[in-house]
Amino acid sequence: MKHLPHPSFAKWFQRTFVRAWIVIALLFLAALIPSHLVSKGFGIAMAFCFASALIGTLVYLFYQLFHVKCPQCNQPMETTRGASAYSALCLRCDTTWDLGIGVGGSD
Ligand SMILES: [Zn+2]
Repeated sequence: MKHLPHPSFAKWFQRTFVRAWIVIALLFLAALIPSHLVSKGFGIAMAFCFASALIGTLVYLFYQLFHVKCPQCNQPMETTRGASAYSALCLRCDTTWDLGIGVGGSD
């Protein structure tokens, strides 16, 4: 059994996470624009977009976390939650890939 750091997952995850939060923050700010400055229903629409983006991002990132492919053989792997970080096991390569995603916080 080998234990290696995953070459790209943490970078991809963090980049996606940051970009998604920028979009979510902008939607949140848009929802706060006073209603007399914009058309009727704008705030509600933005609030709806904000909630959808927030839930969608969390679902998407969580899905990706549990559907990581092996960087060597491209097979789907089983993600497990370790004591301090998530890791994914490839049975074919007999390798545990450290995903670099901390449990309950950054690093
Ligand atoms: Zn593999």
